[in-house]
Amino acid sequence: MRIGAHVDSADPLSEAAARAAEAVQFFLSDPQGWKAPQPREDVDRLRAADVDLYVHAPYVINVATLNNRIRIPSRKLLLGHATAAAGVGAKGLIVHGGHVNAGDDLAVGFDNWRKTFAYAAENGGFALPVLIENTAGGDNACARRLDALARLWDAVGEYEVGFCLDTCHAHAGGEELLDLVDRVKATTGRIDLVHANNSKDAFDSGRDRHDNLGGGRIDPELVVAVIRAADAPVIVETPGGVDGQGADIAFLRDRLGAGSPAA
Ligand SMILES: [Zn+2]
Repeated sequence: MRIGAHVDSADPLSEAAARAAEAVQFFLSDPQGWKAPQPREDVDRLRAADVDLYVHAPYVINVATLNNRIRIPSRKLLLGHATAAAGVGAKGLIVHGGHVNAGDDLAVGFDNWRKTFAYAAENGGFALPVLIENTAGGDNACARRLDALARLWDAVGEYEVGFCLDTCHAHAGGEELLDLVDRVKATTGRIDLVHANNSKDAFDSGRDRHDNLGGGRIDPELVVAVIRAADAPVIVETPGGVDGQGADIAFLRDRLGAGSPAA
């Protein structure tokens, strides 16, 4: 089981080494901006690395919304990120499930997800697996709770769609972690990546504030149980940089009996 961290995008491989991480996730552009990814000088090094790479799409992307001025550029930015992420040898592109605005029909949001994959297919398809991630907040989210996730998967089922399970988002979003993996897999058929995070906030708070695994409101052993059941690679998106994330990775490796990384 590969265990790693979300790191700064400037030099992901050095960040991985500093944390003894076997995987890293990073951004290819400003996560709050609409700029397309720029070519990277370290592309050959990234492609040759033993470390597994994941790219997180910008937070501004919302392909579900009924707002054309957000939805259309979101599709393009997602497709561009998929091409760029595949270019650096990433194993997957993680994107949040998105939401519709208050008063808008969530069914249209799910259909907008279907149209996103249809749009990609018309343009040669996504160049790597796209993993939709569950989110913590909002009353109109496409992937906060399992009932919405089931409707989302009904909409995109004809396409190859991956899933990323975030433990902080599930807890804060109002889904119990106990048996969550079974319930998710019954819905999506798969979990491709786990974002292993604790939560600073209460169950069903709707707030998205990550904490280190030993802190926060979730029993860390529940996070371990989720990872074990998911049997998927793990990325911690926790605070504290090298020290904080390094300790979280070491904790998981110890509990999961994964041993030390070879490198
Ligand atoms: Zn996450």
